Amino acid sequence: MDRLERYRAKRDFDRTPEPHHEGAASPDSASGASFVVQRHQAQRLHYDLRLELDGVLVSWAVPKGPTLDPGVRRLAVRVEDHPLDYLRFEGEIPRGEYGAGSVSVWDVGEWLPVGDGTPQAQLDAGTLHFDLHGHKLRGRFVLTRTGRSSGDADQWLLLKKDDDEAVPGWETADHDDPVPSVAQWHGPTEDELAALDAMGSAGAWSFDGVELGLTNLDKVLFPAGAGRGPFTKRDLVRHYSCIAPWLLPYLEQRPVNLQRFPNGVEASGFWQKNLPSNAPDWLGRWHDDAAKPGRTEWYSVIDRPAALAWMANLGVIELHPWTSRLASIDRPSWALIDIDPGTSTTFDDVLVMARLFRTALAHLGIEGRPKVTGQRGVQIWVPVTTTHTFEQTRTWVEAVSRSVASIVPELVSWSWRTDERGGLARLDYTQNAHHKTLVAPWSVRPAPGAPVSVPLEWEELDDPGLRPDRWGIDDVMDRVRERGDPLASLIGRPQQLSRF
Ligand code: MN
Repeated sequence: MDRLERYRAKRDFDRTPEPHHEGAASPDSASGASFVVQRHQAQRLHYDLRLELDGVLVSWAVPKGPTLDPGVRRLAVRVEDHPLDYLRFEGEIPRGEYGAGSVSVWDVGEWLPVGDGTPQAQLDAGTLHFDLHGHKLRGRFVLTRTGRSSGDADQWLLLKKDDDEAVPGWETADHDDPVPSVAQWHGPTEDELAALDAMGSAGAWSFDGVELGLTNLDKVLFPAGAGRGPFTKRDLVRHYSCIAPWLLPYLEQRPVNLQRFPNGVEASGFWQKNLPSNAPDWLGRWHDDAAKPGRTEWYSVIDRPAALAWMANLGVIELHPWTSRLASIDRPSWALIDIDPGTSTTFDDVLVMARLFRTALAHLGIEGRPKVTGQRGVQIWVPVTTTHTFEQTRTWVEAVSRSVASIVPELVSWSWRTDERGGLARLDYTQNAHHKTLVAPWSVRPAPGAPVSVPLEWEELDDPGLRPDRWGIDDVMDRVRERGDPLASLIGRPQQLSRF
């Protein structure tokens, strides 16, 4: 059955700006997915709760809105399933159309079914237990069918369970402020930057509501290189503080692996996966309940500007967020294409392959964006719905990569071992796996001149001045102020990968 038939039947897509996307069926989404609550100022104000399930958004209209108050039951009228694209919908539905009025995103995040059986089976049985990981709504909720109906719509009740996130007296209308998005976060003010610059080699820096104890600020971490530098730890703290509003959207709600070079990039660095032992209370963290004995249990989660500054002070240079988010840790939200140059691969060769990927993605109707790694390669980041398994994203990236390689076999090796690749590039699809990561957009790389990994518009691949290490910590803020982040609009985009 077409689950969106009712959705389409109610709407005239020549008139309404609402999405008219075909909801793709997906095998199952037992491990959780996105949710949204939209504030809908229609004839009557209400809040629409939508949960991503099996390729659509199952939806309820909640007249008084969801609440964190565990003593309150809210009527929730089950309405027609909506397409996945509706997750991001905001706008005016014109007068005379179904649902006429204005729609804004009131909360967004991820949800996780927690009861017995599949979420669909729980819905069919009339009681769904679930956790919400939103900006406003957090903790455990229950939806339960009352048996009453209004017209052809079932009446349900939405309840907040009494847990650590419950807040008695919490009123929906007191929380109508816009949800955080890019710029949610703020970098340092002029005064805060001046204080950082004026500080001696160590001191306390007030930033993002936190007193940070900074040390060894004048230590050179990066020698000069690529026409830039040298750069000190103070420069690194400055970069990660200023880039925070653009970088945090790639880090929030994800475990992060860190590469530290406390003695500078010419000394050897090391990977830090576990939460640093001296991490302050305010630093985000996540416990991997599935960790095998002896493996990392507690990971850092970087979700505020001060956390980036704190990490920089620790000599953290590279940030590698997981491709999955906390609420659905077994399901990636990015599929990653990695053009990993060999010793005889030129940057022009890399660009040839990147353009072939562009053509392949366009052919498949899938959106992605390239980024220079700051070292020699280019990666392409493709947002996906959390209905995919890692095996599915890996299989898809491998198939697209093999099809690109078939056009330029002279440039690509499929050998696993570096010394057997004959200097050729590798199209590494294997990073699409649990615990595997690639370097984040806007992360610094451990090389002379402190190059930065920067997202690009596709057209920029044709810019003759493009270099993989074109931007560094001294000029990347000019770049982002001028061009923004070409990848930002794809964050969270619910794309279903086609079968290949
Ligand atoms: Mn509505």
